[in-house]
Amino acid sequence: MIADAVKQQRDFFQTHKTKNVQYRRQFLKRLQHELVANEDAICDALYKDFKKPRFEALATETQLVLSELKHILTNMEFWSKSVRVKSTWANFPSKDRIYSEPYGNVLVISPWNYPFLLSMSPLIGAVAAGNTVILKPSEFSPNTSRIMAEIVKKVFPPEYVTVVEGGIPESKALLANKWDYIFFTGSSRVGKIIYKSAAEHLTPVTLELSGKNPCIVDETAAIKLAAKRIVWGKFLNAGQTCIAPDYILVQESVKDKLIKELKYYLVRFYGKNIEESGDYARITTSDHYDKLKGKLENQEVLYGGKCIDEGKFIEPTLVNEPELNSTLMQDEIFGPLLPIIGYKTEADIPTYLLNFEKPLALYIFSRNKKHQKKIVNQYGFGGGIINDTVMQIANKNLPFGGVGQSGIGGYHGKHSFDLFSHKKAIIKKSNWIDVPIRYAPYTIPVNWVKKLKHLF
Ligand code: NAD
Repeated sequence: MIADAVKQQRDFFQTHKTKNVQYRRQFLKRLQHELVANEDAICDALYKDFKKPRFEALATETQLVLSELKHILTNMEFWSKSVRVKSTWANFPSKDRIYSEPYGNVLVISPWNYPFLLSMSPLIGAVAAGNTVILKPSEFSPNTSRIMAEIVKKVFPPEYVTVVEGGIPESKALLANKWDYIFFTGSSRVGKIIYKSAAEHLTPVTLELSGKNPCIVDETAAIKLAAKRIVWGKFLNAGQTCIAPDYILVQESVKDKLIKELKYYLVRFYGKNIEESGDYARITTSDHYDKLKGKLENQEVLYGGKCIDEGKFIEPTLVNEPELNSTLMQDEIFGPLLPIIGYKTEADIPTYLLNFEKPLALYIFSRNKKHQKKIVNQYGFGGGIINDTVMQIANKNLPFGGVGQSGIGGYHGKHSFDLFSHKKAIIKKSNWIDVPIRYAPYTIPVNWVKKLKHLF
């Protein structure tokens, strides 16, 4: 059945209908209409999946997608046009252009933590660029997956875009087929499986993966504001955000002050009984809940620590100075546990940062411009912010993606359009002249050939 769906899309792409930008646009307009009409239902589905607060569902899922969709609808016609580039004397006379060509049949596999955003955003980018899409959302956010499947079915014929609901078996069955592009968002562990499978057919991939995102706070930082922005970015979605700060590296001289402010904002945002707050999400899967609970064993908890198995609730938790070899510091936390580690001087920072693979995000809170610049220049990471957290997601003009273990490729807005388009280079030569020097028998003196670089 999956093989049939893939074949249907393969045949459909060969009709060349999606090469017409107005054709794509008309479907994306319909999608826009359905997303607006179903926004409440989408938020309800997100709430059913993991009690995602309404505000967060709107602000971090539906509105982000609608904003990006609007931006793409406005610009896609322009982006689709071929671009003329400078010709060279070697080809004189010629007109040289770059064409944006859809890859063909795209597979999108998405995770559960922002199940709507991380499915619809790549889907929209792939359609805008003229591809067909099969989306496989996560099995751990079934209500959101269902509603996306319903909306997509209403808007697109299945040979153009369709949703395959299911888990690992469905994902594997999809991967067994040949794709023209695979876009995967999820863990680095599964990312490696996807990459291997794509390599079978030399299929290009985007891998949006995970990492241990540092948040550096130095003694020049505006501590109160830093604490407020860290608490927001870390505990949004109960810490299940790929770009959430994973751990804090704070200069010892301001450590106590920062901890005091972090505690203050935790209470101010969520109240003293956080389990009663309607503004705080839950852990999505039991496995992940157990893993997070285990990470707290033998740690010095400065705040929080309460876990309620029923409902998979984990209180926002601050942990003091965990060992680097503890399970808390081994890999990405991806939950509401926030280790706080003190450092003395700037020279101590690499000990921590270089202990981990290149992360997806890095945050630095500092008023020291030299320090800000140094951190940005010296370390590899997907992207980041100076003096805030997570908000890089809110600018569609910036490419969003990791580097090294945290991913391959960046998307959003025009970056998505470019990512899902092969850039085809075409030279159109004129026939009225044919410079003879490149043809055998070669009669040009060798010292002339050495000057050919001026022609390219
Ligand atoms: P995951 O890697 O377990 O699953 C992601 C998708 O892959 C799901 O659709 C799942 O069904 C499928 N899958 C799982 N195992 C598979 C296998 N063996 N073969 C084929 N397909 C398989 O990720 P998750 O738990 O759903 O999401 C959390 C992870 O995603 C975190 O590590 C987080 O950092 C990462 N993430 C990254 C980004 C980003 O933009 N870089 C965004 C969100 C989440």
